[in-house]
Amino acid sequence: MTVLVINSGSSSIKYQLVNPESGESIASGLVERIGEETSHLEHDYNGETTELNQPIADHGEGLRLVIDMFNDVGPKLADAGVQAVGHRVVQGGNHFSKAAIIDDEVQALIEELAPLAPLHNPANLKGIEVARELFDVPNVAVFDTAFFQSLPNESATYALDRETAEKYQIRRYGAHGTSHMFVSQKVSDILGRDDLKQIVLHLGNGASVSAVKNGKAVDTSMGLTPLEGLVMGTRTGDIDPAAVFHLARVGGMSIDEIDTLFNKKSGMKGLAGDNDMRNVNELAGKGDENAIEALEVYVHRLLHYIGAYSAVMGGLDVITFTAGIGENDNSTRASVIKRLEPFGIKLDEEKNNTRSKEPRVISTEDSTVKVMVVPTNEELSIAQQAVALL
Ligand code: ADP
Repeated sequence: MTVLVINSGSSSIKYQLVNPESGESIASGLVERIGEETSHLEHDYNGETTELNQPIADHGEGLRLVIDMFNDVGPKLADAGVQAVGHRVVQGGNHFSKAAIIDDEVQALIEELAPLAPLHNPANLKGIEVARELFDVPNVAVFDTAFFQSLPNESATYALDRETAEKYQIRRYGAHGTSHMFVSQKVSDILGRDDLKQIVLHLGNGASVSAVKNGKAVDTSMGLTPLEGLVMGTRTGDIDPAAVFHLARVGGMSIDEIDTLFNKKSGMKGLAGDNDMRNVNELAGKGDENAIEALEVYVHRLLHYIGAYSAVMGGLDVITFTAGIGENDNSTRASVIKRLEPFGIKLDEEKNNTRSKEPRVISTEDSTVKVMVVPTNEELSIAQQAVALL
């Protein structure tokens, strides 16, 4: 039994054929630069990569070529036991607190939510439209926001004029929910406890933190959009909204320019000149002052949220690191956890420095809070949620 997981972007389609039971990724690939002159398809199967370089006009043509690729290079989809196609959808608004089988009504709701995620939902819909046409199995939408529909009002509500907030649906929706759900459940499974107060730090190019109490999300750092919260690769994270007024009035910048500045040119890129944490670490190691300061700001923001969420949950049992930086960057993990020593939270340096792809505890036996590294796997989670609905 398998699920084809699709993550459709505005000019790309990422896909993975997953066995939801064993967790095995059987084949994967991506189509990129759709609609441009030199589109590119890359298919990985059996340790080999097959590439295709030709113009690909639209998502329909892209997905047809992916199906051809499966049938030519393998594994043949007809023999692969595909039970469902799982789609990553960024914004589920207040309509979806869990995954949903896509019918016309669900598709229309995803479309209706596009103003809340103008870059993402229309792109996700392109993948959904062609997959519904090309596959006979159920298509399932898995929403990045669904896990955070459980947020209590006190954390989902902005202190904005009620009427305006309601009219424009302004609230904290969160993002990366599939990852926060997958990782927090894994932690519960490993520790054999459902009654945990957890903080999950998803630190990738995009980054977010969640507070998960007894298996339910009670707070998260991304808000109306993924711009809020932690310092990210290219996003500011938290910033006084009055900076927008100031840049518009005094700097003469347009709203679109400020949007690009905050989302694409800020964060580690804006502070250190590079959004890849490996390069920032290397620069800092060579004494680059901007990089050193960028890392300090990055860690300070994390500490802010760890403190806040401990207070919100009335205690803390586990802090878990995940995603590209969380899983691989022992120096960032150490910088954060060492600052928590006054609370009896202690890092086992050797465990922290050991590279592994397995979930693991990296705190000492006598640490007051467990510190863990748990690799995230959003595709597997999407596949599992899709199958659970069938
Ligand atoms: P996303 O899915 O948001 O694009 P990922 O979760 O793949 O991002 O994480 C990408 C980030 O992980 C990059 O900033 C990259 O520098 C960082 N990363 C990967 N490996 C390491 C490492 N060994 N040390 C530090 N950072 C790393």
